[in-house]
Amino acid sequence: MGIISSASGSSCWRGLDYYKSKKIKNIKKINDNEYTSIVSGNKDYNVHLNLEHPRKSSCDCPLASGKKIICKHIVATYFSVVPNSAKDFELEQERLQNEYEEYRKRQYSNAIKYLNNMSKKDLIEELTYIFNYAPEWIYDDFVRRNDIEG
Ligand SMILES: [Zn+2]
Repeated sequence: MGIISSASGSSCWRGLDYYKSKKIKNIKKINDNEYTSIVSGNKDYNVHLNLEHPRKSSCDCPLASGKKIICKHIVATYFSVVPNSAKDFELEQERLQNEYEEYRKRQYSNAIKYLNNMSKKDLIEELTYIFNYAPEWIYDDFVRRNDIEG
């Protein structure tokens, strides 16, 4: 398990923001796998980064202090120590986003195909369901566009 896979999505994104806005100072190398840094957030936080054993990393911020949590300060330090990892993280997020958009496009096109094959009775049932459960403006818009009186 790496630092990124051990951290929550929001810690990764906020860590990336911290890295990009250069909030990491005083990076010191202890050995090939361990580094310390000071990350300025609301206050200055002391980070100990362990690349080999991510869960042995620590930070004295309120979220991570005394717990085995990989917070945004630890992630930011990781991105500073291994700059390629920030690039890799961004590329991977971009890839996942594109994959999701492709998936949604395929799904939409399949939904339209499905609509085209539905019977009138089933279409009416489906629309009635939408009128009852979708936000009210969808029904109101239908009534207005089709000039339906009360
Ligand atoms: Zn922290």
